[in-house]
Amino acid sequence: MTEEIVVVEGDGIGKEVVPAAVSVLDAVGDFEFVRHDAGDAVKEETGEALPRETYDAVAEADATLFGAAGETAADVILPLRTAVESFVNVRPAKAYPGVEALRPDTDIVFLRENTEGVYSGHEDRLSEDLSTLTRVVTTSASERLAEFACDYAPEGFHVAHKANVMRETDGRFRDAVTGVADERGVDTEEVLMDAFATHVCLDPGQFDVVVCPNLAGDVLSDLAAGLVGGLGLLPSANIGSDNALFEPVHGTAPDIAGEGVANPSATILSAAMLLDHLGYDEEGTAVREAVESTLADGPRTPDLGGDASTEDVTEAIIGKLD
Ligand code: ATP
Ligand code: MG
Repeated sequence: MTEEIVVVEGDGIGKEVVPAAVSVLDAVGDFEFVRHDAGDAVKEETGEALPRETYDAVAEADATLFGAAGETAADVILPLRTAVESFVNVRPAKAYPGVEALRPDTDIVFLRENTEGVYSGHEDRLSEDLSTLTRVVTTSASERLAEFACDYAPEGFHVAHKANVMRETDGRFRDAVTGVADERGVDTEEVLMDAFATHVCLDPGQFDVVVCPNLAGDVLSDLAAGLVGGLGLLPSANIGSDNALFEPVHGTAPDIAGEGVANPSATILSAAMLLDHLGYDEEGTAVREAVESTLADGPRTPDLGGDASTEDVTEAIIGKLD
């Protein structure tokens, strides 16, 4: 059966790195790609950054590969994450041989709660002087994240939180996550999120999979991104119960857009996560290994000190797949 994958290139280098990843997917499987638009360009044409057809297609697809949106990013990606009802954001931060990194021993996957915490939108302006934010933590969302974490890392994971201060909300988060893990016989180790920030800089090798509340996961995964070098290397996945959306961590990179020199690795690694998600484990691993070996041997794009084009790198990666 041909699997359908929705493809949304978006703006800027999205138009270059997404086709690169599509050609890699094409090389490893029998997929049908259904293209839809979103972002600045479509807003200029139609007045809407996220056309209804695109939202519906993403909401109905098993998997979507997304590039980046420019000025309209918040109007595009936030609703699209809602469309896939994503409860976990998977953010690997891995240093690769051949790529300069502050901490070459970094290989961490962050599993970030993706629906609540302080990002759930309950902000109020109570007076000229006072604004407040309501932090939402539910046992159900925390347990769903924990179930995912137990499947993802049956060998165990860290839980980052600040339950010593936010006793009610992070306490609930911590208890729910460790409760599920205990029931499933999966080891967990707790770490205070502020202490984690120090430990991960000094000795990232001690961490493998880290489960975090929403804001902590956002900040800490960006911190770890800094440890491994280029933005052009970081993939991500927004996973929901029935569907999922995969995207590079970087944006539209307007400074290099249109030049054909964007590093396609982050998007190709996102495509590898998509393959894993659809159950094409062997193919996902093969793509990751091909990217890794190309990062080690070249060719490399200018962000990694080379002079190769997006196309050169993509061809090299596809070449390593056969
Ligand atoms: P946006 O507002 O869309 O996020 P931005 O200006 O923040 O755009 P980013 O895409 O976040 O740009 O990129 C930040 C920097 O990293 C830019 O200098 C960009 O060229 C570089 N960069 C990001 N992604 C890549 C990539 N895939 N290949 C090469 N360089 C990249
Ligand atoms: Mg940016």
